[in-house]
Amino acid sequence: MIPPLMPTYNRADLAFVRGEGAWLFTAEGRRFLDFGAGIATCSLGHNHPHLVHAITDQLGRVMHVSNLYRIPEAERLAERLVAASFADSVFFCNSGAEANEGLVKMVRKTMAETGQPERHRIICFEGAFHGRTLAMLSATGNAKYLAGFGPRVEGFDHVPFNDIAAVRAAIGPTTAGILVETIQGEGGIRPARLEFLRDLRAICDDYGLVLGMDEVQCGMGRTGKLFAHEWAGIAPDVMTLAKGLAGGFPMGACLAREWVAKHLTPGTHGTTFGGNPLACAAANAVLDVLLAPGFLAEVERKSDLLWRELGALVGEFPTVFEELRGAGLMLGLKCRLPQTEVQQALLAEGLLTVNAGENVVRFVPPLIVSEAECQQAVAMVRAAAKRLAPAHQLANAS
Ligand SMILES: *Cc1c(COP(=O)(O)O)cnc(C)c1O
Repeated sequence: MIPPLMPTYNRADLAFVRGEGAWLFTAEGRRFLDFGAGIATCSLGHNHPHLVHAITDQLGRVMHVSNLYRIPEAERLAERLVAASFADSVFFCNSGAEANEGLVKMVRKTMAETGQPERHRIICFEGAFHGRTLAMLSATGNAKYLAGFGPRVEGFDHVPFNDIAAVRAAIGPTTAGILVETIQGEGGIRPARLEFLRDLRAICDDYGLVLGMDEVQCGMGRTGKLFAHEWAGIAPDVMTLAKGLAGGFPMGACLAREWVAKHLTPGTHGTTFGGNPLACAAANAVLDVLLAPGFLAEVERKSDLLWRELGALVGEFPTVFEELRGAGLMLGLKCRLPQTEVQQALLAEGLLTVNAGENVVRFVPPLIVSEAECQQAVAMVRAAAKRLAPAHQLANAS
C-alpha cells in the first residue's frame, strides 16, 4: 500500500529532531556531522542564532502580504544583492527550478522585445541539473529524469560541458542564450574551467546572446566568493540563486542586468509567495553573516584544509577513491567503489554526505563549519576508507 507521504525519494531511515551548527541529532540522541547541509542549503548550519532571531522577529510582525504591495524587506534584499553583484535588478521566487524558469523566460522575452522573436533556444550542457519542472527537465536533458513525462519542452540544445568548440558549433539563427552551472552539482561536482567561462562570455558578446548562469548550488558564498563566477573574473547577464540563499528557508532569485531584466514588465511574470517578508528576512540575515568582514576568507581557508586533507586520502586509498574535485566547500570524492557503499560507511562513522552523478560523494558542509569539524570529518572519511579498502591495499601500505 502506498504510504501517505508520496514515495518520491529514497530516504535514509533517519529522522532528526534537533540541529546545532554543523550537527544534527536524532530522537534517540545519535549525532551526525552534517556535511550535506540539506543539499548545500543550510549555509549557516542549524539553529543559527542570527537567522533564528531574524525569522522569529519577522514572524511576529508580518509573514506574507503578496506582491500586490510594497515589501520593504524585499526591496532591501534586492538592493543588497545588486550592490554585491553584476546585476541591476532581482526577481524573487521559491525554488531553484522556479528561478531557472524565470531566467529562461527573461532570455526569450529579451529577444522577442528586441525584434528577434525567432531567437528562443538556449544552449545547455551535458551533465547539467536545472530542476524538475517540465521546462527545467528539458534544460537538464537527463534521459533518466525525462522518461515517462511526455514530449520535451522545446528550445534546449545540449553540448558537452567545458567544450567551447561544441558551443560555437551549436549556435544558430534561433539561439537566444546559454545556461551553464558555474560548477555542476548534481552532475558530479564538475567545475566549469575558468577559461571556458571567459570564452562563453566572449561568445555571448560576439553573437548578442544572453549568458545565464545557474548558481543555485554554487552561489551564496559556497566557493569562498559570494558568487562562483567571480573566480573567472567575468559576470553573466542573468543568474539564478536558491539553495543557500535563505539558509534553509525556501527561496529562489533571478538576478539580471538591466538590458535583460527590463522586459519583465508588470503582468509578464509572477509568483504568489515569491519574496515575501519572511523569506526576505531570512535571506537578509544570511547576507549579514556572509558579508561580514572576513567570513568568506574563512570559507576559503577551511576549503583549503579540506582540499588538502581529502586529496591526501585519495592517495592513501586508491582502491576506494579516484579523484577529488570541486571548489570551496563544494567538494566531491569520485569513488572507485560504488558511491552508495562509501556513503553508507561514512554514515556509520557519523558523517552525513550527499550523492552526486559520476559515482561521486558530495561534501557540502554549512559555511559556518569550524576547522576542527573539518578535521573530524576527514578523520571519519579515513576511518570509513580503512574499513572499505580491500585487504591487499592495507598489506601494501604497511
Ligand atoms: C538544486 C538545484 C536546482 C533546483 O532547485 P530546486 O529548489 O530543487 O527547484 C537547480 N539548479 C541547480 C544547480 C541545483 O543544484
